[in-house]
Amino acid sequence: MGVHDTGIGATYDSMTGLLDRMTFFDDVNVCRDSGRQVHIIMVQLSRLMQINRKYGVAVGDQLIRDISMWLAELDEQYTGYRIANSRLMLLGPVCSRQEADACMIRIRERFGESWQVSCAGQTHSIMARACFVHMFLEEEDTENDLLDKMNFGISVMENRDGDRVVFFDEKIKREMEHRNHVLEEVRYAIEHKTFRMHYQPIYDCREEKFVAAESLIRLWDRNGEFISPSEFISMAEENGLIDQISWIVLEKVCRFLGEHPQLPLRTVSVNLTGQQVADATLLDRIDSLLDDCQLFGDKLRIEITERTVADDFEEVKQVMQCLEKRGVRFYLDDFGTGYSNLSSVLSLPFEVIKFDQSLVQMMGNSRSGYRTIELLTQIMHENGMVVVAEGIETVQQVQSARETGVDRIQGFYFVKPLPEEELEAFLLESKTPLQAAT
Ligand code: C2E
Ligand code: MG
Ligand code: MG
Repeated sequence: MGVHDTGIGATYDSMTGLLDRMTFFDDVNVCRDSGRQVHIIMVQLSRLMQINRKYGVAVGDQLIRDISMWLAELDEQYTGYRIANSRLMLLGPVCSRQEADACMIRIRERFGESWQVSCAGQTHSIMARACFVHMFLEEEDTENDLLDKMNFGISVMENRDGDRVVFFDEKIKREMEHRNHVLEEVRYAIEHKTFRMHYQPIYDCREEKFVAAESLIRLWDRNGEFISPSEFISMAEENGLIDQISWIVLEKVCRFLGEHPQLPLRTVSVNLTGQQVADATLLDRIDSLLDDCQLFGDKLRIEITERTVADDFEEVKQVMQCLEKRGVRFYLDDFGTGYSNLSSVLSLPFEVIKFDQSLVQMMGNSRSGYRTIELLTQIMHENGMVVVAEGIETVQQVQSARETGVDRIQGFYFVKPLPEEELEAFLLESKTPLQAAT
């Protein structure tokens, strides 16, 4: 006997004939309210757009129907639903973890083979891609909790290679609780502007002094635990919070620079993400911020990554050109990770290219790594760009960077990012920081 006992009041998905989203949640509610435990399986189909483009929408639709049919017939104990365009569900009676896994393995194995899709007299052999999240319904699970768990399961898979199956066990539950805690703290910090800024000085090898600094956001939660930006910035991006964070950062940095005109630095850079730079309102907002802080644009630099450039090339180019007129120039951050599309990088007016730590490490690993850095630096120089090596930790790396022609270096070798109040003292004290390295 399936979980969906009666057809009364049930509604169906017109394309696949499976029960629909409303019925799925009705059935879940009935099970939960009657204390009945159930096994929930989510099959999230992916790459449907590509399939539609390659074979046509009719074939794509037929593939969804075939998969739906196969799932519905997999096991008479389970009932099939389609709750969104590419999201199919199965609800079955409670079982042991082993039985749940066995059922999941059967589904996953089927996706390891192709589907023979017949449409308009033709048969196409198509490999469907999907990821799978399964779980046992918990007493307190509301509709939103379930959706949240499914989406969190998908995000876990997106961030790891290999297995496309997640069972929502205690470990994943703790990860999700942690994610929710971080998001709550980020929202609190946005509302109360409790983020802090640290600054990491950047050393110029020719001038033999610090000439710039990168601003880096810092967050401590309300219990005093540090939360790394590597962790919360991507979450903020996924949850629509990054814009608000970036404005707080820009404001804090501009205010700091406006209040410390005596700082012995030519520029300070701020990290921004793609959407912001592609957003035309950035220009007016930066103008009024510079005005408010009585700051000239030529003190401010913006760091963006290669991914940003690849996503919105034309928009980014336009905004860069407009900001350049105000003196604000751009750094390309993390060069050597993600998309290394040299031609588009070179066609944008970057002032500085920052070689990522992973690229910098190649220098010490082999002769060819060293040569690569040397040649890349040469190419950047020929295109009028300044090269910064990031993540420099050892005296050997300082020496190699200097030999390869890199202009500036930044890293723990000199100093970790410093709180506002320590930056000035550090810059005034550290007159000849490279003595040990030369
Ligand atoms: P990023 O922009 O590439 O910043 C450099 C990161 O490398 C910083 O990590 C810095 O502390 C770290 N670092 C510097 N020198 C060394 C070194 O010698 N060794 C090692 N292992 N690491 C070094 P942090 O502050 O944890 O920031 C991580 C990332 O988070 C940043 O990478 C950036 O992508 C993002 N981020 C930081 N602050 C902001 C911000 O204000 N806005 C935005 N949108 N993103 C930010
Ligand atoms: Mg950066
Ligand atoms: Mg970087």
